[in-house]
Amino acid sequence: MRCPFCSSEDTQVKDSRQAEDNSAVRRRRLCGKCAGRFTTFERVQLRELTVVKKSGRRVAFDRDKMARSVMIAMQKRPVDPERIEQMISGVVRQLESSGNSDITSDQIGALVMEGLAGLDKVAYVRYASVYKDFRATADFETFIEEENLVAHMDDKDTDVDEITDADASKNSKGQS
Ligand SMILES: [Zn+2]
Repeated sequence: MRCPFCSSEDTQVKDSRQAEDNSAVRRRRLCGKCAGRFTTFERVQLRELTVVKKSGRRVAFDRDKMARSVMIAMQKRPVDPERIEQMISGVVRQLESSGNSDITSDQIGALVMEGLAGLDKVAYVRYASVYKDFRATADFETFIEEENLVAHMDDKDTDVDEITDADASKNSKGQS
């Protein structure tokens, strides 16, 4: 495995352990040249997935890209990173086992939403607001009502202010 810092191939595994509910192996590696430390994950890939865009364009499914969109929604949320990785792996497994190697962005988005719903309500709303591409506060409020999120806002782990902040920052960005 090539070192991501100096591109040397002289790297060694220092530690190897099960991760993500035993669905992955995490290896900590050390570069013999620059002493850089990095981590690699080994996961089962059941099948190659292709994302078919609305335009008809086809691109290889990119787990990291999906993970990044989840991480943006999860920013500063008090959730164990391991649980987030498990959720992401769960989404990938569902996509891989759907029986079709062609998938749509909508399918990915819907599964991520399901996963986030069980993980963190604030991240769920953040992700949904991007995924559903809301342009007006009215849409956002309708969505909250439709999804019956108001009832969940009494949950002690849900911070209403943070939901409102995420919405406010989205709107101010849209207007600038
Ligand atoms: Zn290196």
